[in-house]
Amino acid sequence: MVDIHCHILPGIDDGAKNISDSIMMAKEAEKEGIHTIIATPHLNNQYDNRKDLILAKVNKLNTALKDAGVNVTILPGQEPRIYGDIIGDFEKNDIQTLNNSQYLFVEFPSNHVPRYAEKLLFDIQVKGLTPIIVHPERNSEIIERPEILYRFVEKGSLTQVTASSLSGYFGKKIKNFSMQIIEANLTHFIASDAHNINSRSFKMMEAYDLIDKEYGTDYVYLFSENAEMLITGKSIIKEIPEQIKKKKKFIFF
Ligand code: FE
Repeated sequence: MVDIHCHILPGIDDGAKNISDSIMMAKEAEKEGIHTIIATPHLNNQYDNRKDLILAKVNKLNTALKDAGVNVTILPGQEPRIYGDIIGDFEKNDIQTLNNSQYLFVEFPSNHVPRYAEKLLFDIQVKGLTPIIVHPERNSEIIERPEILYRFVEKGSLTQVTASSLSGYFGKKIKNFSMQIIEANLTHFIASDAHNINSRSFKMMEAYDLIDKEYGTDYVYLFSENAEMLITGKSIIKEIPEQIKKKKKFIFF
């Protein structure tokens, strides 16, 4: 299994605090059957993690994991909070795409979607990159107005739902919305967004088990295959997106 979203690099954001935390996280991942993790540290007002630093940290962690006998490979990535000059910074080589592919994570603030997002997601694609909107199921404006997400996906953005959202860690509302997103073909990846091994762990097996039970093996295959294809920069599988339907009202006779 490949996990494309994880805060495993030590001491640079709110994920692993030090190298022993990172090793513990990798061991936990290994137990869940994850063999490859894309390290995606935050880039936002609080954490200034740019490409050079990320690449150096990834190399160091891979050496440490080898020394510790942990069979997990770390690849470079980044989780930039959306901002006006992301393309300018990409040109300055500060932005780290997912394993140097064309796929680029984009995070929205948790309580709204900036007005300029649509234009920026378009401009990112004009640059030859494919934006992946991370955890849309946890954005309160998208929960209220899911048609925003439909529009972004229809216009070529991809999305990633967090495993622990599906397993209910963020509450029932977010769990249900995550399932609606899957049912409407509005997501393409499931990833852990793990920060530690306690409160924010991987939960990938749990999520895939749930997907298997609810939607069948085809969906498990779709999401796991997409993560595999992403790391080699191949095109991923996309189903035709649909609008999220308003909750059906049941009429009893
Ligand atoms: Fe994250």
